[in-house]
Amino acid sequence: GLRTGQQYVEGIKNRKHAKIYVMGKKVTDVTTNLFLKPSVESFKATFDAAFQEDTRDLARAYSPYIGEEVNRFVHIHQSPADLVAKVKLLRKLSHKTGTCFQRCVGWDALNTLYIVTHKIAAREGRAEYKERFMKYLEYVQRNDLALAGAMTDVKGVRTLRPSEQPNPDAYVRVVEQRDDGIVVRGAKANITGIAVVDEVIVLPTRAMTESDASYAVAFAVPLDTPGVTVVVGRQINDARRLEGGDLDGVPYMAHHEGLVIFEDVFVPWDRVFLYKDWRWTGPLVEIFASYHRQGYGGCKSGLGDVIIGATQGLARAIGIADKPAVAEKLAEMVFLNESMYSAGLAASWEGVKLLDDGGWWVNPMYANVTKHMVARFPYEVAKIAHDIAGGIVGTAPSEFDFKNEEIRHLIEKYLQGVPDIPTEERLRLVRLLENVSVSVGYLVESVHGAGSPAAQKIMFTRLYDFQKAEEIAKSLARVKVTVKWPKEPEPRRPSEAQKT
Ligand code: SF4
Ligand code: FE
Repeated sequence: GLRTGQQYVEGIKNRKHAKIYVMGKKVTDVTTNLFLKPSVESFKATFDAAFQEDTRDLARAYSPYIGEEVNRFVHIHQSPADLVAKVKLLRKLSHKTGTCFQRCVGWDALNTLYIVTHKIAAREGRAEYKERFMKYLEYVQRNDLALAGAMTDVKGVRTLRPSEQPNPDAYVRVVEQRDDGIVVRGAKANITGIAVVDEVIVLPTRAMTESDASYAVAFAVPLDTPGVTVVVGRQINDARRLEGGDLDGVPYMAHHEGLVIFEDVFVPWDRVFLYKDWRWTGPLVEIFASYHRQGYGGCKSGLGDVIIGATQGLARAIGIADKPAVAEKLAEMVFLNESMYSAGLAASWEGVKLLDDGGWWVNPMYANVTKHMVARFPYEVAKIAHDIAGGIVGTAPSEFDFKNEEIRHLIEKYLQGVPDIPTEERLRLVRLLENVSVSVGYLVESVHGAGSPAAQKIMFTRLYDFQKAEEIAKSLARVKVTVKWPKEPEPRRPSEAQKT
């Protein structure tokens, strides 16, 4: 059933044996660790959303598999309306967190495995993956688990296939097959939310060939499984969380990515959802990528709202909100922001059904368009925001200066704009804008998350019917149809063999 945010927090508190490192130290309780606490808060918002009035309906869905309501973050999409609800929910959650809330990758992994395991059963008559996955899904839905999705391998030499790497563990692989399961080794990088989840679902990161068969593996394990180590990555401004303030580091909002390492981890068969079926890795990656690219239309436009709001507030604080030049720039921000959202909605409404039994997938063209805009527009939105807000975004005094009684009155006097807006309001908006608009979650993540821009260009080329477009153009231009017939075959000469 549905868990509250508090129940989620208690759940990961009990995960005592997970090996998690932050800034060189092992963390025993991620929920009280100052570095990770904001990440926990942000993840927690996905649970609380199911109980809050403004998001309750969006955040819940009926699961036909367990016959009850579940948190949408563990739901299998049953219709285009479900896909739309995803994008809308993500936008709203960005308003509550001001950062990435980290739960979407595991959700997309669930939907991907649902489709792939069913397809394998239907196409090849092998139902074992499907049966295992459905049991796992039921477990996840009944317990409302927090899941990370781990796809990106560390990849070693980028030009070499997994099986050609000088380091054979540069991609996660199976090193031993046993009667009761498999043993896996390798590492996944840039994994969103990895330190604050109950379990991690591991998927292959690329299409494999036959020689890479031992790398074609998908599975799920609890984070405290022996042999699993997490090393949390750093982000700009992250140490501000450790200062104990309530303004500079915006202590309630953060996400993290991390490196997760599998040192000969045992995975029982009932947690293995793909093994050696290298032919299915291509479709799996494609299905997952489009799901995640669609979602960005929601979460990034939600962050865009935060930035637009902060910019407008800051313009008001210095008395320029009504200037036509500012209004024009704000309108440009709205255009860029709503473009990303519209594309996400189009990818959802134009979703396609891949299975008889549900299996609603997004429209891959529009999902890729969404993500490609996301790889570009946030940088423009951030630039306009900084333009309007002024240099103070990069130079404001620390909250500890502001809180120091010796100089507070001076800062209040000299950093105030219009008289009726207090300096503290301006400073708070400046810090919010800085923390959101110069963040990994709004910039770097927008470029590389769910695949770098080049990956979308490849998809555009593959999905778009250029030949058809050329035919349309030629027909409209009244170009005379010219057909290049194959050359007349040369008269056959008797071969050497026939001569003798
Ligand atoms: Fe979800 Fe967006 Fe974070 Fe991805 S970047 S996990 S879609 S909030
Ligand atoms: Fe992401």
